[in-house]
Amino acid sequence: MEHKPVSKPFQPGDMLLLVDSKGRNYLRTLQAGKIDNLREHRLEHDKIIGQLDGIVVSRSARDYLAAFRPTLADYLLKMHRGAQILYPKDAAIVLMWADIFPGARVVEAGTGSGALTLALLRAVGEKGEIISYEARADFAKLALKNIERFSGPCPNLTIKEQDVYQGVEEREIDRIILDLPQPWLVVAYAADCLKDGGIFLSFSPQVSQCQLTVQALADTEKFLIKETLEVLVRPWVISGRVNRPAHRMVAHTGFMTLARKISI
Ligand code: SAH
Repeated sequence: MEHKPVSKPFQPGDMLLLVDSKGRNYLRTLQAGKIDNLREHRLEHDKIIGQLDGIVVSRSARDYLAAFRPTLADYLLKMHRGAQILYPKDAAIVLMWADIFPGARVVEAGTGSGALTLALLRAVGEKGEIISYEARADFAKLALKNIERFSGPCPNLTIKEQDVYQGVEEREIDRIILDLPQPWLVVAYAADCLKDGGIFLSFSPQVSQCQLTVQALADTEKFLIKETLEVLVRPWVISGRVNRPAHRMVAHTGFMTLARKISI
């Protein structure tokens, strides 16, 4: 999958994140001849073609508009959603806590909108592999569209339109990452598919789901249960004499349960 270097000039078909000086942002695809009206800004796409990342594309009396290549987090928050996505704050922790490394073979379920899949793909790199289970054909299709829009074709990704509660076929897997309603039903399969020392991570919005998952992990006697945690990110406003936490934050998404497969 291709990651365009920041210094490469914008070309038609590239994604743009347009940000104004108040932080409002818009995701667009660059298209020859197109004109967008974004509040007081008239955006002529032709004027962006050939320019570099960060270019100021329009100025008004009170405001300006800059064009950037979207970061993965920008894109995840803007892309089309079927299922609720795993938020960037959680995906960031998944990558480090589940130790997603270049070259890793990872099983994921469910694919949902493909947000976490995109983060996993970037972390495993071209030599790694993602096998992602999704029970709903419409979500599988939307996820692939979302993923390819950002990354281009991904030969190292397989989306399986299958019910993961019926089993996981892969073996010698490095990591298994679950974000679906009944992860405890996948725990016994996870024990079979993971390598010894492999990592299990499950994300659930309800603590009752974590309890059932931890119990299922314990019942297999094949896991060292590490921890359950949540990720709180509190933005602050730092502006002139205002120096305080923002009034609003994403207060709850879910909990992550982590375990490692032991050799018995
Ligand atoms: N992590 C995803 C969101 C997952 S939402 C993202 O970041 O976009 C949960 C997904 O699990 C839904 O798409 C749902 O269809 C899928 N799912 C639920 N039960 C499943 C099952 N038994 N097998 C496979 N997928 C399942």
